[in-house]
Order: sequence, then C-alpha cells, then structure tokens
Amino acid sequence: MTSMKNGPGKSVASAASLRHGIPVSKPVAVKLGTKPSSSGMNVGSGIGLAPGAGKTACIRTFGCQMNVHDSDRMLRMIRDAGYAEVQRYEEADVVVLNTCYVRENAVDRVRGHLGELSRLKKEGRVKKFALTGCVGEAEEASQLQNTYGIDLVLGTHNTYELAEFVGLPGMTETYTPDLPGIEGEHQAFVTIMTGCNYGCSYCIVPSVRGRMVCRPMESVISEVKRLVASGTRYVTLLGQTVDAWREREGKKRFCDLLERVAEEAPRVSFTTSHPSNMEDRTLELIGETETIVGRLHLPVQSGSDRMLRTMHRGYSSERYRRKIEVFREAVPGGMLSTDIIVGHPGETERDHEETLRLVEDCEFDLAYVFKFSPRSGTEAAGMYRDEAVPGDVAQRRFVEVLRAVEQNALRLNREKIGSVEQIYMRHGRTGDGSAIGETWSGHSVHVPTDAAPGDYVTARIDNAGPHVLYAGKPMSS
Ligand code: SAM
Ligand code: SF4
Repeated sequence: MTSMKNGPGKSVASAASLRHGIPVSKPVAVKLGTKPSSSGMNVGSGIGLAPGAGKTACIRTFGCQMNVHDSDRMLRMIRDAGYAEVQRYEEADVVVLNTCYVRENAVDRVRGHLGELSRLKKEGRVKKFALTGCVGEAEEASQLQNTYGIDLVLGTHNTYELAEFVGLPGMTETYTPDLPGIEGEHQAFVTIMTGCNYGCSYCIVPSVRGRMVCRPMESVISEVKRLVASGTRYVTLLGQTVDAWREREGKKRFCDLLERVAEEAPRVSFTTSHPSNMEDRTLELIGETETIVGRLHLPVQSGSDRMLRTMHRGYSSERYRRKIEVFREAVPGGMLSTDIIVGHPGETERDHEETLRLVEDCEFDLAYVFKFSPRSGTEAAGMYRDEAVPGDVAQRRFVEVLRAVEQNALRLNREKIGSVEQIYMRHGRTGDGSAIGETWSGHSVHVPTDAAPGDYVTARIDNAGPHVLYAGKPMSS
C-alpha cells in the first residue's frame, strides 16, 4: 500500500481540467526526432537518410483523451521519421487528422477540415493527408475518402500502418496501446484497456472501438516505470470504461492495478469510469493514497431510472447516488465530474426534472452536458424517428442542466477560497500571465508563476469561478 495522505498535499479546491467528452482540435507539435525510439525505428535523428528529413508534418486531434493519446503514438512515428513541426496545414507536407465519431457535430468539423485539406492538396501545398481514429472505423469512411481524395484511412485498430505512410519500415500488426508514445514529458497517458462491452442505446463507441480488451498488468506497470524513468511525474490511466479493467486470467481488478501504479508513479489519475464497475474499495483507495489525485469522473447520463433503463446503463439513480456518497466520504473536497445527455429520444419533462434533482443531490463540480446526437446504427437513432425531443426543448433542458451544475460548482469553488494548496503545474504561463495547475483534489487553478510544467508550487486560493480557481502568488515552489 502506498503512503497515506497527509499534510498540505491533499487539501481541498475546485473546477475542471478534464477534456473528456469535449471535442478538441489540438495541433500537436512535431519536432525533429532527437530521442531514441523504443520501437527501434528512430531514423529521424537529423542525420542520415531520415524519410521525413527536410519535410514537415501536422497532426490535428478531435475528441477524447483516448484520441489525444493515439495522436501521441502517431506523433512518435512522425518524429522518428524525421519530420519537422508545423502548426498550420499550409506549411505541412503531411497531415494526419485523428478523428472522433461520438457526436455528429464532431464529424461535421472533420468534414470542414477535410474540405480544406483537399483544396490545399489540389493547390500542391499539402502533399498527402491521412484520416485516422473513430471516423476511419465508420462505414462512411470510404465515401469520405473518395469525396476528399484522402491518401490513407486508418481505424483505431491499425494505427501501426501509419509507420509506412511516413516512410518508416512497415510494422507487423500491433495492438495500438503497445505502440510507443512520446517519452520524457512531465505528464503522460497510459492506456489500460480498449473498446467497450456495454451497449448504451445512443453510443457508437462499441462499433468503432470494438469489444473490451484489457492490457496485462505487467505491460501497464512496465510502461509506467519506463515513463517515470524518462521524467514523467503524472500518469493518467485511460480507457472507455477504465474501472472495468480486470486480469484476463486471474482475480486482479482495476483497484489492484491502480494501487500498483500508485506505487510507481508520483501522481496518478484515471478516466473514464462506469458506475456499474466502480467498486467502493477503489473510491476508498483514492482517499487513502498519497499519489492518487482526488478526482472522479463518473458519467451518469440521466437522473431518471426510466431513461437509464432505456439507455441500458445498468444502474439506477439510487445506486449512482450511493457511489457518490462513498466518494464524498472517502475523498472530502474531491473533484466530482460527470457526463449528462439531454434530449435522448423519449425523454419527458419528468425525466428531465429527475436529472435536475440528481444534479442538485450530487453537487457535481463539473458536468459535460451533451444534447443527444443520433448516430446511425445505434438503437437510439431508430427511436429518434418516432420519439425525438424537439430541438428547442432539448436546448432549454441543456441550458437548465448546465446552469444547475454551474451554480453548484461556483458555490463549491467559493468554499475553497482561503485554502492553501500544493499545486502541480500542468501548463506554463499563457497570454494573460497565469500558468495552469491542478490541486491534489483535481481542481484546475490559475497561478501567477513562472514555475515549469511538472513543478509543484504552494499557493493560497484567492478567488473562484464556476470552472476554475485563482491562486495568489506562490509562497514556495
Ligand atoms: N464510456 C464512457 C461512459 O460510459 O460514460 C463515455 C464515453 S463517450 C465517448 C463520452 C460521452 O459522450 C458519454 O458519456 C456521453 O455523455 C456522450 N455521448 C455518447 N454518445 C452520444 C450521443 N449519441 N449523443 C450525445 N452524447 C453522446
Ligand atoms: Fe459508450 Fe456506454 Fe461504452 Fe461508455 S459504456 S463507451 S457510453 S457504450
């Protein structure tokens, strides 16, 4: 067991840093390869015949942290091939769009980018571009390939094929989490499972990511050890239902894996959890363990039992509330976030009111609220024809849920004013002069400091908004 929490390392604070569920479009820096590759493919050290030497590349990522992490692995290949970093398509020889298929608006954005890339390719500026990720796995991928002249389409299972596309030797089939990512960064993701065995009515993920596959514990631990040895100070365990992780043969469950990782890494977090898999002992472990951040992202989707059944979520609102009670008790002042879908087909005003009541009872620090988006092939897309919630009603419910969450979050965040926090710096100073850090309770804080990402500072919380805390000048670092 790792050491128990004590001292300022685990005091309280508030608001969000999770990007889960929010479509992000994030250009990833690609530098000339300078680090040795554990894939043994490092031909891009700037000397010799690196296939990308003198060329440029840009990766853009849409979607959840799983996609951000998959981009990290592709970045490693591009870096190993010797490509130089660019942020703009106009300056790139090679572009990779790593995409999300969860909601239609994410796909619309991808189509916009594909249109731009197709034009740039015709003008001779971009030489070739690839579409990867969940859209690549969808049925409409081949139609998109024809329409936009995409050079390569990859799904989520054959990411290894990008190696050949960027000029590296072709690889044999490799489970995507086993592909090396970037090492030596202060924070890193570690995928512990892929796919999902649930069948939520609205969700396309099982179709594009497949059934659950759990990585062996030893493989996870050796990656964590390698990352920590390379300088990583913050490890986030990733999976669609991370707490469903279990040993393929054996009795170990997610809680056992988390405990082992927390012994190896100086700071640990995890996402996304499913309420049906979340064990009380995991929630207790968060509270007891010095190196685990006090944050829980536990998507509820609805507060109505009728809707939870329609969605096939597998738990009742009462069972969810009980989990939250255990978390609040085990991790006082911890950061609790959730996902909520409004306007699922068949959702009535009464169902919506039950969601509002659950939001009030659970006092979330943050919620990602989504308007239902019909995904072709899902059960809910079929229901949509007869039981769709009108757009204006869905919009009103969306605003009501968002407001209720923000009111709670602001009140909770204000309670943190005056507390002194040990803050892990996640990002350096931005334009407005503050850097962004995270308390041990998992809340985002703006801090006026020049401390480097990966450093800790101690500062007092002076102010609070619904999404973020504001610290004064650090007392120490
Ligand atoms: N595995 C996680 C879970 O079960 O909670 C969620 C993964 S999903 C990629 C992220 C979130 O997107 C979900 O929690 C849900 O709120 C939202 N989502 C998924 N499909 C959706 C749809 N068709 N329309 C609106 N939101 C959706
Ligand atoms: Fe989608 Fe449900 Fe699986 Fe989450 S648990 S990925 S919402 S099917």
